[in-house]
Amino acid sequence: MRVRADRDVCIGAGLCVVTAGEVFDQDDDGIVVVLDEHPADVAAAREAVANCPSGALSLEE
Ligand code: SF4
Repeated sequence: MRVRADRDVCIGAGLCVVTAGEVFDQDDDGIVVVLDEHPADVAAAREAVANCPSGALSLEE
C-alpha cells in the first residue's frame, strides 16, 4: 500500500495531520506533505484518507 496526496487539491484543513501525524505534515502554506508513503499504521492512514474533506488523499493498493 502506498499513500498519495494531490497537493493541488488539498485545502489545508489539517485533518490528516491530526489523524495520522506520522504519515502527514503540512508545509508553511498548510498544504499536505506525505512523510511516510508506506506507513506502519495502515488503519490511521486509511482513516485520514477517508476523512480528508477535499479528496486529496488516496491509497494505492
Ligand atoms: S485532510 Fe486533506 S485537505 Fe486537509 S490538509 Fe490533509 S490532505 Fe489537505
